[in-house]
Amino acid sequence: MKTLTTEDKAYLLEKIRDIPDFPKPGIIFKDITTLLKDAQAFHFLMDHLQARYEEMDIDFVAGIDSRGFIFGAALADRLKKGFVPIRKQGKLPYTTIGEKYALEYGFDEIEIHIDAFACDKPKANVLLIDDLIATGGTAKAAASLIEKSGAHCVEACFILNLTFLRGDDAVKKITPVYSVLEIN
Ligand code: AMP
Repeated sequence: MKTLTTEDKAYLLEKIRDIPDFPKPGIIFKDITTLLKDAQAFHFLMDHLQARYEEMDIDFVAGIDSRGFIFGAALADRLKKGFVPIRKQGKLPYTTIGEKYALEYGFDEIEIHIDAFACDKPKANVLLIDDLIATGGTAKAAASLIEKSGAHCVEACFILNLTFLRGDDAVKKITPVYSVLEIN
């Protein structure tokens, strides 16, 4: 498995654009569209993710709505595995199971199809992926949902971890966490 050097990480980090005060004052939004549109940087990132996860026993890659779909679907195809979207409540057409999680004000809910991880094994191994972990609320709910569905979450992967928010503490209680890049 290839580990990224400090230079590799700096190369990828500088492809992610900071947008201050989006979507509201005080938030620095990490815009990954600038990384995605750079063919060389996106390919380099996907090569790294492929090298890491082709060594693991994974049956499905599950991406969180919506930027987790981009990395998750590309990685699933490279690993020759199926892709499962974990969607915001009310978007999936078939029977779903859901998991609620707390927001600053109120609650949100994510869902998967009830048969999302059905396969020829009693318990599918699922890799969870999203672009970014902040407070960890979304990822914790997603990992819990995977486990609740009867599958096993082998790892939660994030392109970027805002480590100062310590969001990965809660997720690590459910599954190992891997972050390609970190902002301390
Ligand atoms: P959280 O549940 O707080 O860990 O938030 C994670 C989700 O919100 C991910 O799906 C991210 O795409 C998005 N998100 C949270 N904070 C940011 C940020 N500063 N920049 C970009 N996306 C963010």
